[in-house]
Amino acid sequence: MDVMVLNGDGIGPEIMNAAIKIINKLHENFGLNINPVEYDIGAVTLDNGKWDLDHILDEARKYKAILKAPMGDPKLRNTGGTEKALDVILSLRFDLDLYANVRPVRLLPGVESPLKSYNNPDSINYTIIRENSEGLYSSHFGGLVLRDELAIDNQTITRKGTERISRFAFELAKKTKGSPKDGKKSVVCVDKSNVLRSFAFFRKIFSEVSSRYDEIVAKYMYADAMAQHMIIRPDELNVIVTENMFGDVLSDLGAATVGGLGFAYSGNISDNMGMFEPVHGSAPDIAGRNIANPTAMIMSTSMMLDWLGFGKFSKIIEDSLFNAIRSGVRTPDMGGNATTSYFTESILKNM
Ligand code: ATP
Ligand code: MG
Repeated sequence: MDVMVLNGDGIGPEIMNAAIKIINKLHENFGLNINPVEYDIGAVTLDNGKWDLDHILDEARKYKAILKAPMGDPKLRNTGGTEKALDVILSLRFDLDLYANVRPVRLLPGVESPLKSYNNPDSINYTIIRENSEGLYSSHFGGLVLRDELAIDNQTITRKGTERISRFAFELAKKTKGSPKDGKKSVVCVDKSNVLRSFAFFRKIFSEVSSRYDEIVAKYMYADAMAQHMIIRPDELNVIVTENMFGDVLSDLGAATVGGLGFAYSGNISDNMGMFEPVHGSAPDIAGRNIANPTAMIMSTSMMLDWLGFGKFSKIIEDSLFNAIRSGVRTPDMGGNATTSYFTESILKNM
């Protein structure tokens, strides 16, 4: 099966190289039938006109799964390359209707959490479901600035969008082992329904959907309270569902509790297509130095394989990655001095 691979900018090509080596090894040693088709798409190639948005969307529609590296280059902020890259990222999510952004917050074995009381691999393990097709982000294509005096962005919350994301969250909760604390399966609806009507509507629809899932506890929390909860009692969490912008912010917070952005991976999923990518950006400050942590890219690959029905192979990736980390191989962001290539080689050796 062909999979579209977007190499991106900055550390993108370096960490994607790690993911591809792992896919190829799974193919050679274990017969995984995945063929990565690489596309040199990022702010740089958008800036020089090699690619444009429609062309990319046409290509993307040929695939069931996309593996995407981070895009963006601060040097191209003035020429427009980075803005075009953001358009591409958001258009892939909006136009392909990848409505569920699934962001696991999981403390991997061998990784240290800054939360001292939760420093064991099983104590932080929950998933943030970020609504990916509407909310405040949809205003990216239609915000308004009036006479340099006033700016307006609109938040869109629809019944259809909220129903499907709520359903997605409950279906996911069904498949999990529940919260690390007591194994209870729950979905928390996170909003600011006390302040905005659109959020009160979001909460109402979520509540309607929840009545169809008796076996899963439905909970409600304001976004500010959730930010605190994720630090004080992360072990009580199982699945969180929230609007686009809150999901963006809370998932960076969650990432910090499990070792940093290098460990935050994600999937953008529709009913028939998926795009998998690290949560972090192109990290221009460390690009080209072979020191980026490829874990989020590798875990995104694992998530993609699992979603495609190759769960056996994603287990091989995770076991060998965890073994490498447990044996003490650490990139600089983890406090070590391993290069990206050495880190990758250690995983390959463990496979
Ligand atoms: P974006 O606007 O694309 O989200 P950002 O401004 O949030 O980008 P990132 O590129 O995510 O920034 O980087 C934030 C910080 O985290 C940087 O200091 C970067 O070097 C570091 N960082 C991000 N990803 C990694 C990684 N995989 N390995 C090591 N450090 C990383
Ligand atoms: Mg960011």
